Parts: sequence; structure tokens; C-alpha cells
Amino acid sequence: MASRLKIVRTIPSLRRTLELCRKKGERVALVPTMGALHRGHMALVREARRRANRVVVSVFVNPTQFAPHEDFTSYPRSLATDIKVLREAEVDLVWAPSVEAMYPDGFATRLTPEGAAKAGLEDQFRPYFFGGVATVVAKLFTQVLPDIALFGQKDYQQLRVVTQMAKDLDLPVKVIGVPTVRESDGLALSSRNVYLSAAERTVAPMLHRVLKGCATRIKNGEKVDRVLNVGRIEIDLAGFALDYLEASHALTLAPIVSLKDGPIRMLVAAKLGKTRLIDNIAV
Ligand code: AMP
Repeated sequence: MASRLKIVRTIPSLRRTLELCRKKGERVALVPTMGALHRGHMALVREARRRANRVVVSVFVNPTQFAPHEDFTSYPRSLATDIKVLREAEVDLVWAPSVEAMYPDGFATRLTPEGAAKAGLEDQFRPYFFGGVATVVAKLFTQVLPDIALFGQKDYQQLRVVTQMAKDLDLPVKVIGVPTVRESDGLALSSRNVYLSAAERTVAPMLHRVLKGCATRIKNGEKVDRVLNVGRIEIDLAGFALDYLEASHALTLAPIVSLKDGPIRMLVAAKLGKTRLIDNIAV
């Protein structure tokens, strides 16, 4: 079974291959990634295998979601290793288009998501990000035409934006969120964790610890505002440069004032040295 993986780099070849699957009535799952795969990505792959007959993993570092000063050129790339891991995981197809195949000369259309994409979280610090994500994911959805697509809760605002985008564009795909995979000390797995120095790596799990502490205090009835202020100070004192720590409505991502305002998601983003980390948990 381990040898059936097909690597596809052009849209006509992708279409031909997937048409055969659909003719046979097979259920297709898509797992979009930027490569540099870790156990977090593989949890999505496992869930995809559980729910579908054919699993497509896209590997594409999407230039349109990076701002000019961000790490597009230095983003970790390891396609050969990724392919090996995906073959072992019995993935059927790797969709690895070039930038030119995804954005041919003259490409001129970009989605501008609103709602959760304007919640004042990631969007405040990465104004290019969700436009780029929504555009590339819409393209991936129309290229692959999957029955289901799996995204990590690790990128919670992204999961909300993509879910809304698929709904708003009437794309016949079910978007499924998969729980965050963590190291044993709580640090959420991320391709960017390789940027952390040894010293930073020991501090990094603090982000999750603060989230958990805040969630417990809010659950116990402490005032949300107060809990957030204390949490922000704790993150500062640990040596992070905090971008945000917020309590938001789990679906709309609108700010929450009290426990009764709805299901709450706590979201955080902070820089540790040059590395920007994000995390979130349910309250
Ligand atoms: P990326 O390659 O960083 O764009 O991530 C591809 C997909 O993997 C996204 O849906 C992410 O949310 C998901 N993902 C990344 N890290 C994790 C993790 N630690 N646990 C679960 N899913 C993750």
C-alpha cells in the first residue's frame, strides 16, 4: 500500500486523477498545508483517512498570505521529507503546485473576507493574511473539489474564516476542525517552532499555561476583563512581546464581556525573540 502515493504538480493532471476517483464514487478529503510537516499536520491526515476513501494533501507555501516583511522566503521547506512521511501515512495524492501554476501571469482576483476575518485578532497584526488564505483555499477547493477539508483548531481564526468562506461561496465542501496537537509541555506544534532558540523553547509553553489559567478563572466566575489583564501581564513578564490575549465568541470571534455572552474561545499571539507564536483554547 505504501507505494500508491501520487505527486501532482499541474492542474490538468490533478483534475484527471481526481475525476477517476469521483467516477468511482470515492469520497475525497483535502488537507491543505504549507509543508514542513509535523505531528499536528499528521493528525489532520489521520482524521481525513478515517472519514474519506481518498486523501489529498496540498503542500504550497502561499506567497499571497505573507506580508513583504514576513518569512515567505525563509519559511521552512522540506518537500522530499514531507513526501516520505505522507507516503508512510498512506496518503493518496500530494498536490504540490508551483507558484506559477497557482498564480499564473496576469492573476488578478483576490477574496476579501469579513466577519471573523476582521475580529481584531490576527488581522490586526497580519492585514494581508486572511485575504491570501481565503483566496488560496477557495482555489484549492475548486481545484480538488473535496467532499471534506480538514483544518487545525491551532489556527482558530483561520478555521472560522475558511468555514464562512466555503458557506458564503456555496462550495460543496464540509470544513472540519481538528484539535490542536501539543508537545508534552503544552506548546502547540508549529512549523515555526524550529525558529526557537533552546532558551526560548523553555519559555514557549508559558503561552498555553497562561491560556489554561485564564480559562479556569473565567469558568470560575472571575471578571473577564480582570482575568485578561492579569494574563497579559504574565505573558509580558515571561519575556514575550504580546500581540493580543482576548476572550472571543467561539463562532463569531466578537469580543466577550462575560461568561454568559456565549461559548468562549481564548486566543493569544506573542513574539518570543523573532518567532511569533499563536495558540487558543476553549473555555
Ligand atoms: P500550515 O502548514 O501551518 O499552514 O498548517 C496546515 C494545517 O495544519 C492548518 O489547518 C493548521 O491549523 C494545521 N495545524 C498546524 N499545527 C497544528 C497543530 N499543532 N495541531 C493541529 N493542527 C495543526
